[in-house]
Amino acid sequence: MSKITQFSTIGALMAGHFRGEAPLSAFCSHRAFGLGCSAEISGELTIHEGQVHEATAGEALHCLSRETEIPFIQVTDYTPQQERAVTSINHENAQAQLSRFIRPDNIFLAVSIGGCFEHLILRRPHRADGGSRSVDEVAASQKVDRHEGIAGRLIGFWTPELFGRVSVPGFHFHFLDETSQISGHVLEFSAQKAVLSFEEKTTIEIVNPASAAFRALEIDVGALDEMIHRIEK
Ligand SMILES: [Zn+2]
Repeated sequence: MSKITQFSTIGALMAGHFRGEAPLSAFCSHRAFGLGCSAEISGELTIHEGQVHEATAGEALHCLSRETEIPFIQVTDYTPQQERAVTSINHENAQAQLSRFIRPDNIFLAVSIGGCFEHLILRRPHRADGGSRSVDEVAASQKVDRHEGIAGRLIGFWTPELFGRVSVPGFHFHFLDETSQISGHVLEFSAQKAVLSFEEKTTIEIVNPASAAFRALEIDVGALDEMIHRIEK
């Protein structure tokens, strides 16, 4: 059972530390599966079979080179331990559907849901224009797109509440359509027929940024919890 490897934390990201500091090559194997965001939160990253797709509002979906430095990423090698056909799965009942097969409360899981989605709402940020911007400003200006009848897969993780400042607690999904043209952070989804797969990850490895700016970062952990729920859920 492989581990989840993560650069930085959702807590540091939400506290405003989102400059690119680590190259993708340090984390992404040719099999990598996962998600992240690009420097200055210019794009949502969806990682599938080692390819890192950057979804940015107003731009065609494209892959990032392995030299690209990113502020946050969460990846693993994905070998599903169970693959289950499910019906009528959506963002509201996904936890209950997953819980039929494994009790997720205290464990990490890599999770994927593949199928044709009757309803899908994705979010993408606009590219930073060079000026500084806050997480709230990024969040307020994101582009939200609604899709109907789109085939592809959700790629992401389940994080126990206990680790909710390390990663987004509960499900965190990004989407990649089957033609690799549409991607983004998933806000809502539903599929009549889908395949739910998952793999338990007993170990998570967190690589902290090593910069002086990160050491000097002031994190208001009380405000953070509210922010993570408001912006990332
Ligand atoms: Zn996301």
